[in-house]
Amino acid sequence: MSKLVRGFRDIFEPQSKNFTELENCARGVFSLYGFGELRLPTVELKELFIKSTGETTDIVQKEMYAFEDAGHRQLAIRPEGTPGVVRAYLENNFTQNAPVQKFYYIGNMFRAERPQAGRYREFEQIGAEYIGNSAPAADAEVILMLKDIVAKFGAKNYKVKINSLGCDKCRPLYRQELIDFLSAEKDTLCENCQTRLEKNPLRVLDCKIDGSRFAGRVPTMKLCPECQAHFDEVQALLKGKIDFEVDPMLVRGLDYYSRTVFEFQAGDASQNAIAAGGRYDTLVKHMGGPATPAIGWAMGAERVIMARGETVPAKQKSVYVVSLDKTCNETAFNLMQTLRHAGIRTEGGLFDKNVKGQMKQSDRCGASYALILGEDELAKQAVTLKDLTTGEQKQIPFEALTDEVKKLV
Ligand code: ATP
Ligand code: MG
Repeated sequence: MSKLVRGFRDIFEPQSKNFTELENCARGVFSLYGFGELRLPTVELKELFIKSTGETTDIVQKEMYAFEDAGHRQLAIRPEGTPGVVRAYLENNFTQNAPVQKFYYIGNMFRAERPQAGRYREFEQIGAEYIGNSAPAADAEVILMLKDIVAKFGAKNYKVKINSLGCDKCRPLYRQELIDFLSAEKDTLCENCQTRLEKNPLRVLDCKIDGSRFAGRVPTMKLCPECQAHFDEVQALLKGKIDFEVDPMLVRGLDYYSRTVFEFQAGDASQNAIAAGGRYDTLVKHMGGPATPAIGWAMGAERVIMARGETVPAKQKSVYVVSLDKTCNETAFNLMQTLRHAGIRTEGGLFDKNVKGQMKQSDRCGASYALILGEDELAKQAVTLKDLTTGEQKQIPFEALTDEVKKLV
């Protein structure tokens, strides 16, 4: 028998309904904020992620599913959505015609990580990208939009952390300061961080092993006046609308962030981020377009569902159609279609089984009523309706059936 691949999952009802519910919440909020859906391909050129996500990131170095196709193209199954959004934005000339764009996407992402609770190799992200607005209002808007989705879905116990990573003017100074500070402790750093120290010291603060022990004693970034003013205004716009905390340790794991970064966290586990994002004012230019500011976030659907707790939505009541004889099968089948088209959840059709088998199935699918059709009923142009809770039954003429059933389910 074939087996599921490690880190991948089958998600059945009712669990799958949690995803639909979250997606519907998100779509409703996106529409209020004027964000339009962008459906992206699952496969892109591998170089897209190397160039945008960043060569030295964990995603590109360790987690990407990359392969060569029959045409010798180097491809990757998307590990995240932002690079594809920016590629689509540039490739379709939005820069020329309509540079300010608000996109959202809903889709599965793929990362070869060690599977554990809240960390899968295929998982769903819901993401938003606001391109072409450098104003602090854009930062505040996407953060509050994220909060609205999470709140509407019903997740409660989470913290919001924000920080500013500055720009190309203020970050290099901090980078050096950080290298000096961390070098003194180089021997105690994990293997990964020893390499990060030279290439990308900020990422040491994001390390799942070493990161937290520097809290409170690591030097913090001094923002240039422009970045400080931007950060101050973002905070002013958020005040009173969302509880948040400024965390100088929040640096995020991707290469392209600048200025505002933020995370929504639930719980203390290392996979506690339910959603995360930030500004990426240099990415569009870096990918070959004109200098264009942008900000966005991605939410992990599984983690938001975990943070709220899975709920089992009430099942819609249904009827189950039983045929007692071969001669009744066609009428019974047509009846099922009539009921469905009248908006009644209808199951049945297991006509190769005897009555006992069909009634057993009606129980298994949790139907509230059985509609039984035999030769006797057919002759009278009626159906026997059996209440599966009380066992009571009565005959109903065909022409009154949909109206009668509608009153019950
Ligand atoms: P983490 O620090 O947990 O590894 P990340 O920084 O890699 O997260 P992003 O790339 O910013 O995460 O992705 C945004 C969101 O997607 C995360 O906040 C999380 O909710 C979710 N996510 C990321 N990786 C996974 C995964 N392997 N399984 C499930 N959800 C994930
Ligand atoms: Mg990760």
